[in-house]
Amino acid sequence: MKVVILSITPYKEKDAIIDAVNEQGEMTFLAKGILDPKSKNSALNNLLAVADIELNEGNYKHPVLKSASIIENPMKVSNSYDYLVSLMLMAEITKTLVQDEEKERIFNSLMSAVICMKTAESPWPILLAYFAKVFKETGYEFEVNHCVFCGSKQGIVTFSFADGGFICQNCIEPDTEKDLNKEQMLLIRSAFLVPDMAHATFEVSKENAMVILNKFFEFIKDSYGVSLKGAALLTK
Ligand SMILES: [Zn+2]
Repeated sequence: MKVVILSITPYKEKDAIIDAVNEQGEMTFLAKGILDPKSKNSALNNLLAVADIELNEGNYKHPVLKSASIIENPMKVSNSYDYLVSLMLMAEITKTLVQDEEKERIFNSLMSAVICMKTAESPWPILLAYFAKVFKETGYEFEVNHCVFCGSKQGIVTFSFADGGFICQNCIEPDTEKDLNKEQMLLIRSAFLVPDMAHATFEVSKENAMVILNKFFEFIKDSYGVSLKGAALLTK
């Protein structure tokens, strides 16, 4: 079965308990010897590694890894800090924002995001598109084609997380949030409209990515009640 690794928890000497997501949802297994760098399965000891695995039901609480073949190891020869934090954030939002029964719906997007991000010039478009995908699959659909109130495609002046999308000049209220410039609003639109992660190829500067991600982090805190650990790493 194909899995993407979400977390690795050391357990007795060189064994680890691994949380992963597969096409059916979230799952947990025991991987013996995996923390030994000489283990033939040591590549599984990487956040968001993609692998094809076989399990044995044993006498343990969790099934035990029998064999694994790595499809994608996200670690590169030179990992940039932004790339590593992006991986952490993708794993963290999958674990904390996506409910078990919703995880099967994001599995293919997560796998594709990991594979595409490894060779992408910049992690930002894929990271933003993956956040957008997680928002959608967890029930937060934003209107990015026209004004959320009147449907007008003209005179869009802001994107409001509180109101659920674009707002035009006729519908904006004095207290409506208005933190993003036009370019950033168009980037949010691109992130929500990409059909799949392989098409998240729009250009986004680090500066714009930071502004949008910080809005995402605020929204996540307000709507899911979650403060992401990765958020602190990125904004340092
Ligand atoms: Zn309007």
